[in-house]
This record gives sequence, C-alpha cells and structure tokens, in this order.
Amino acid sequence: MVDNKKIWLASPHMSDEGYEMKYVQEAFDTNWIAPLGPNVNEFEKELAAKVGSKHAAAMTSGTGAIHLALKDVGVGQGDIVLCPTLTFSATANPIIYQNATPVFIDSDYETWNMDPIVLETVLKKYGDKVKAVIVVHLYGLSADMGKIMEICNRYNVTVIEDAAESLGAYYKGKHTGTFGEFGVFSFNGNKIITTSGGGMLVSDNEEKIKKVRFWSTQSRDVARHYQHSELGYNYRMSNVVAGIGRGQLKVLGQRVAKKKYIFEFYKKELGHLEGVDFMPINEWNEPNYWLSVMTLKGKVRPLDVMETLDKENIESRPVWKPMHMQPFFAEYDYIGSGVSEELFENGVCLPSDTKMTDDDLERICGIIKGLW
Ligand SMILES: *Cc1c(COP(=O)(O)O)cnc(C)c1O
Repeated sequence: MVDNKKIWLASPHMSDEGYEMKYVQEAFDTNWIAPLGPNVNEFEKELAAKVGSKHAAAMTSGTGAIHLALKDVGVGQGDIVLCPTLTFSATANPIIYQNATPVFIDSDYETWNMDPIVLETVLKKYGDKVKAVIVVHLYGLSADMGKIMEICNRYNVTVIEDAAESLGAYYKGKHTGTFGEFGVFSFNGNKIITTSGGGMLVSDNEEKIKKVRFWSTQSRDVARHYQHSELGYNYRMSNVVAGIGRGQLKVLGQRVAKKKYIFEFYKKELGHLEGVDFMPINEWNEPNYWLSVMTLKGKVRPLDVMETLDKENIESRPVWKPMHMQPFFAEYDYIGSGVSEELFENGVCLPSDTKMTDDDLERICGIIKGLW
C-alpha cells in the first residue's frame, strides 16, 4: 500500500455515527440557519453539563471568549494581566485588545504550565495593578490549579482559565476550566473536538454569561429600534456550527481514549531511546492528551525528527514558542528561569490524529527510531 500516506498532527474527526449531520440537517429543515437557535442553546447546556459548569455562552472562537471574559473582569488601560509565556498567542492577544499590559510567567517542569512560585513572586511585585490571571492547560495537561487558586484567592485576583486545549481534561476529578471565574474552550479545526471554528465561555455566574451574550450580539438594548448603550461585538456562534458541536460532544470520550492510546503507544515505542522523555503526567492530572509531546536531550534534535517526518509526508511541530520570545510581545515583562525556552528548544509535538491506525503509529515510530 501507499507508504507515504499523509498523516496529520490533529485533523477534524467527525463521528462515525453521523451525529453532527443529524443536528445540521435539523437546522436546515427548520431553517434555523441564522445565528442563534435551538442548537446553540442546547450546545451551551450540553457543554456546561459535560464540564460541570452552570452556564455557557457559545462564541465564534475561543479567542473571542477570552476577550469578553477580560472585558467582563473590567480589564483595561493601565491594568496588568498575568499570562503563561508558554502558550499560543491567542491567549495573550485579547489582553492587548483591551489595552492592558501582559506580564509573562514561566512554566514549571512538573506541569509545563504556569509556575505557581513565579506567579506569587509576580503578584507580590505588581500588587493591585494585576487585574486578572489567565491560566492555560497546555496540550490538555492541567496546571496546578490547587496551588494557583489558593494564591489567586489570597491576592484577591480573578482567574480566567484558557482551557482551549483541555476539553475532557481534569484536575483531581474536577474539569479544567471550572476553577476560575471563567473557563474558555475552543472548537478550532485541530482541537480535540471541532465545529470548524468556535469557542465557549463557561462560568457559574449567570449574570456574567448573560452580559457576555449581550456584548457578543452587538450589544443591542431591549428596544424596537436599534439602540446601543455599549460597545458591541459580533462573536456569537451560529446555529449550524453549534449543530456540529453537539454531535462532536457525543464522541469526546472516544476521542480522549484514542488520544491516550496514541500517547501510550509512543511512550512504549520511543521511551527507551537515549535522551527521550515525554510530557509530565501527575497523579492528580487526568489529561485529554490533545497532543503527544516528546522532549529530546541527546544528539537527535527536534528539527531532525520534524524534517525526517516531513519528508515522509507526516506532520509534526515544535512546542509553542514562548510569548516573551515573540517579536510582537518582546517589550513586555517576563519572569522566569528559562523552563519554557528549554521546552521550546527540546520539544516535538508528535502526530496525534485520532484517525491514525496502529499501522500509521508503527510507521511513525519506525521512522523516528531510524534516527538513533
Ligand atoms: C486554540 C487556542 C486558543 C484559541 O482558540 P480559537 O478558537 O482558535 O480562537 C486559545 N488558546 C490556546 C492555548 C489555544 O490552543
């Protein structure tokens, strides 16, 4: 057979049962093509129930959800927002949308996420100027939420969880994204479930979620004519897209199980190679294994692996380049000791597509082993 079949890092994977089409078809049949409609309402309820949050607002993107969470917290000019440096830029960009100032925090080796010790140092340094802390659960590994919440509560600062990569991941049995005032999920194309694009903001606070829905539909006041007392946004998820989301949510458990299988396959096949290690799994961490990430400390470098896989038509990629190393964010403060830089230099995200077969996984592992 073709031995250079394309293998993706993480591609959309619709259910075998056709759940998504059923809800999309319903939207067509009832002409709920317009934004809003029953799929949006149900998707919000179903996602909130799945993660154990009281309320949810479906949005056009995870980025938009972070943006309106920051707006709700009242983040504005002159405020500082703390943010992990090791993340995707979508975590940090909304801080700039709100004209606030990000301060970037290093990772620790135990979680690869925000280091609670650095967090406390930074809160001491900046005091009341810190208006919010955004915590990220990178690659579906939860941050140390026990320590982080304890510190943020002590300093009386609001926590927003960027759980865009961690739907289906738990910290000590509680779903990521439900510890802070707000949690954010993403259904972008390569996330563990996808609606082609979309996001969700969750919170136990109904008033806050209602306010975000209001802003996300152009802040239309209750009036017969178009009346606006506040700045509006066009961030609301459409009813067709929400239908895809409802179908995808039904197979989230299957997707997590397959992602875990993939991670364990790599660990078993590659774990013994000199210099190879994997992302950390703690006993309190129940990841969704969104991407399987390996680190390399020996002679074989991440670029060797990525280039070799590229030639075989297999997609892989580096670990996120830290925000403090990005030209756009270079002017902002960063506090840490180089952990995130080291992870960036040594990490490779291996193909984690849930449609991969054992043959695909064996092929990938064979190619990688050939480098040793
Ligand atoms: C994907 C992602 C986002 C953004 O979500 P979108 O829905 O693509 O806007 C935010 N943060 C992290 C960490 C992500 O991986």
